[in-house]
Amino acid sequence: MADYDLAIIGGGLNGVSIARDAAGRGLRVILLEQGDLGTGASSASPRLVHGDLAGLERRHFLRVRAALAERDIWLRIAPHLVRPMRFAIPAHADERPAWQLRSWLLLYDRLASRAHLPGSATVDVTHHPIGNPLKRPFGTAFEYSDCVVDDSRLVVLTAVDAAARGAAIRTGARCTRAERGETWRLVTIDRGHRQVVTARALVNATGAWSATVAETVLRQLPSKPDNARFGVVQMSQIVVRRLFDTDNVYVFQNTDRRLIFASPYERDFTLIGTVGHAFKGDPAIVAMAAGDVAYLCDAANRYFRERIEAVDVVRTVSGANMVMNPASKRPARDAAMSFDHGRRKAPLITIFGGDVTTSRLRAEKAVSRLTPFYPMSARWTAKAPLPGGDFAFGRFENEVDEARARWRFLSEEQARRLVSSYGLNVRAILGEARDRGDLGPAFGPELTGAEVRYLMKHEWARFPDDILWRRSKLGLTMPAAGREALAAFMTTAAAELTCGAH
Ligand SMILES: Cc1cc2nc3c(=O)[nH]c(=O)nc-3n(C[C@H](O)[C@H](O)[C@H](O)COP(=O)(O)OP(=O)(O)OC[C@H]3O[C@@H](n4cnc5c(N)ncnc54)[C@H](O)[C@@H]3O)c2cc1C
Repeated sequence: MADYDLAIIGGGLNGVSIARDAAGRGLRVILLEQGDLGTGASSASPRLVHGDLAGLERRHFLRVRAALAERDIWLRIAPHLVRPMRFAIPAHADERPAWQLRSWLLLYDRLASRAHLPGSATVDVTHHPIGNPLKRPFGTAFEYSDCVVDDSRLVVLTAVDAAARGAAIRTGARCTRAERGETWRLVTIDRGHRQVVTARALVNATGAWSATVAETVLRQLPSKPDNARFGVVQMSQIVVRRLFDTDNVYVFQNTDRRLIFASPYERDFTLIGTVGHAFKGDPAIVAMAAGDVAYLCDAANRYFRERIEAVDVVRTVSGANMVMNPASKRPARDAAMSFDHGRRKAPLITIFGGDVTTSRLRAEKAVSRLTPFYPMSARWTAKAPLPGGDFAFGRFENEVDEARARWRFLSEEQARRLVSSYGLNVRAILGEARDRGDLGPAFGPELTGAEVRYLMKHEWARFPDDILWRRSKLGLTMPAAGREALAAFMTTAAAELTCGAH
């Protein structure tokens, strides 16, 4: 008998979502990730959970409606990670006419369920806070509702839930060989040790690595038409100091008709993106070109009063993934999924790309392809909250207030960060603490030893970057001395956790 029913290579959003879905349906699951969870494209997304307004221009009405339905599901199952925001799109005399924007938004309202979020509105920005950071000529903007998400935490919490339902999650485990017979035999280098596991079915969810993994690990022959249809595309964003005080996401129409988003990012910063183009090279090293930085600065400078230049960029965020039709002007971001099986050939699912919003549904469809092979329980992920998310999204502010009332040493911003990262599980970190000193050493203004230990024990954090850039974004404000102290603390804590485990 095989060790597992399903093995998944790749711990990005696609991989962990499949692991969660399958484990919850009763399958014995193992997920292999060569680095940290979410190191690839999944921590470089535009962080939007949305119907995709631009989809209306392309007349993808059904797709927009389906994505809006998924948006509502995320609000129910991840009310800590997925936050509703008001998006503001200023009318620009040289771009789409105001009547067109207004009619898009009316349609967007109709396609969405009105039960959750308020509908669109027209705003006179000369008398509205939305207008404060904008250049003078803008008189009208349109406001509508959508959501933003912390993408890398979504990956990690999905994996936490998969593990809670029995999945084995192995980070630092590179799959180097997958031999196919009636079952799969996988060779992995797991933190330096060679290991072999067997599984009845395999998922290749390695994103930008998919083609290389297919060729070198699975030893599949590349087919010519596929090579032309798929390609790797890089996507990048910039982070600058906060450019506006409101809680809005600004949507700018660029001269090339792309929509550029400028969103509040970690209290003191603004995230601006995205720009994308074809990518060649190692997906582990995706750097943003100077031309792409200039493109996003120019797009923002068309609208914001405060000018930004390349020197103002405090961080760039880039990732690469496989997409369909890479040569077209607008490579499709749709996910691609293929299913391959046969007599004496264990099933293989290959999945890549797709947006964050529809990742849950995509995983549900992928796992459902295996129903002829295994007895499994019904679809379930639309109703089960992610860890810490068992509260109504409208109660988010109450949860922040309750955290402040219980742990009086928390500032409002600290409580907000903790509740949005951990939801109700914040209790497991702060416990009975009466002041910050009870939480162990401090690293920078926010991070404490108690949180670091929790992340190492329950969320697979191994190195400082796992915490500073994927479990949080505290790397943006962490001083160099705090980083060094964190690295030393994690080395000691890792040894203690290993001893404790034996
Ligand atoms: C051009 C572009 C546009 C996008 N547009 C949007 C958008 O509009 N909206 C949106 O929400 N999102 C968008 N996304 C990003 C989206 O977040 C991702 O595509 C999505 O998260 C799915 O990622 P993934 O799981 O397929 O891949 P990844 O997150 O890259 O995960 C693949 C993982 O496989 C691992 N791996 C590779 N080889 C091995 C091996 N041999 N053994 C073990 N592990 C291995 C890697 O380390 C990596 O962590 C876009 C991405 C791109 C590139």
